[in-house]
Amino acid sequence: MDPSQTVQHLAAHPNYILEFTYLIAAILFVFGLKALSHPDTARRGMFLAEGGMAAAIIGTLFHQDIHFFGWIIAGLILGSLVGAAFAIWVPMTAMPQRTALSHAFGAVAAALVGIAEFVMHAGTMTLFTRSALGLEVMLGTLTTTGSLIAAGKLQDVIRGTPIQFKGQQYVNLLIFLGMVGCFGYSLYDPSATAFFFGMVALGLLFGVMLVIPIGSADMPVVMSLLNSYAGLSSAATGFVLGNNVLIIAGTLDGFSGLILSVLMCKAMNRSITNVLFGGFGAVQAASTAGAQGVMREIKLDDAAVQLRYASKVVFVPGYGLATAQAQHAVRELANALEGFGVTVKYGIHPVAGRMPGHMNVLLAEANVPYSELIEMEQINPELPTTDVAVVVGANDVVNPDARDNPTSPIAGMPIIEVDRARSVIVLKRGQGRGFSGLENPLFFKPVTHMLYGDAKATLTALTQAVQNV
Ligand code: NAP
Repeated sequence: MDPSQTVQHLAAHPNYILEFTYLIAAILFVFGLKALSHPDTARRGMFLAEGGMAAAIIGTLFHQDIHFFGWIIAGLILGSLVGAAFAIWVPMTAMPQRTALSHAFGAVAAALVGIAEFVMHAGTMTLFTRSALGLEVMLGTLTTTGSLIAAGKLQDVIRGTPIQFKGQQYVNLLIFLGMVGCFGYSLYDPSATAFFFGMVALGLLFGVMLVIPIGSADMPVVMSLLNSYAGLSSAATGFVLGNNVLIIAGTLDGFSGLILSVLMCKAMNRSITNVLFGGFGAVQAASTAGAQGVMREIKLDDAAVQLRYASKVVFVPGYGLATAQAQHAVRELANALEGFGVTVKYGIHPVAGRMPGHMNVLLAEANVPYSELIEMEQINPELPTTDVAVVVGANDVVNPDARDNPTSPIAGMPIIEVDRARSVIVLKRGQGRGFSGLENPLFFKPVTHMLYGDAKATLTALTQAVQNV
């Protein structure tokens, strides 16, 4: 077939173009996801995934059933405007709640498609398609409200601490059983629309009830789980619509979200059930061994001398680095120290901050070389030979109680063992606690000195002071 014949053939069969672009999209998604697994290649991964999404959208425009492009163009414009506004104006510190909102958008789209399909075609669907549709709507609705509550908690619009009441788990179980019951009956009798819409209402309610008893500190795990549900809901949509790219992308999304949730739980030494039903953060006055005595302050100039004459310094960033937006300031201090021959490394805890990879993203933005970002398992053996460990707005991830106090709510959570360094300087604004709400015995240890103030301002002043030593 010569090229002109091929073009004519494709024009006569737009489905070929659609399937071909879907195949390209699926390949780009797989490679994008692979590249996202390392900071070095993460940016490329994002571009690949974006390319995949563009291919999927373009491919869909060739769908034979589309006769009117008006709604699609309106959707494209609206979606692009909202996406661009998010990208331009949402600060890095608000990234977790922004991600939760994206999940809600994805989930509501899947739920609405499912509801529309049910209204139009329920009577003619096979049992398999109806099951996929029910699953899609159930996961879509609960993910929509669950993600909105998660975003509200992270943005402090809704109380961040667990909202609990007596018998809550039984109420939740009842709602869940009601939702599944309605799903089952609408499978059995597709004309029973009341049951289908009962499932929709209970799904929306269940999303709220599932997330309100969980504290903000656990929101990243919850979001990752909800992301997984949104992905599985999209995959189910793919089965309903016979759309391959939705099945592939939804499954990739669903399972990567699930794996991420499990990895986060592992990094906190907690189970998924403990995250979902544990009400972590509700008990603020939990036992904290060794958190008595005085916190010793250090003067800026004395800290600068320690750093200037150290041979190895390890920075351990946490959530405070993100709130202070101190990533550039820490990089400048590191540059200054390296200029004096000091070896500088960054110890990265897997759940430092408020989302997975939070510290990596911030430090990459400040052009910190990836070779200096050392994961927790690798940095811990180096700490006993480290002259100064500088804790920049981290708290829970350096709390030695997790290692030393079996009764602590965070017992068993792996930590960066800064207290094994020769000297520790903690940069924080005051006596504020970490997200777990626990007091940190590290701050009372003889090896530790506190340098109070906003991390960015302190680091900038330290850089100046180091140069003047
Ligand atoms: P953290 O325990 O929340 O502590 C952050 C510390 O930063 C606070 O003690 C605060 O003390 C200080 N701070 C806040 N703003 C500051 C500023 N402008 N300048 C200087 N210091 C500032 O943070 P973390 O050590 O990174 O631990 C993360 C927590 O989130 C863990 O409990 C983890 O389990 C949880 N979590 C994270 C993820 C994730 O994916 N990353 C997932 C699930 C749970 P002051 O108020 O005194 O300044």
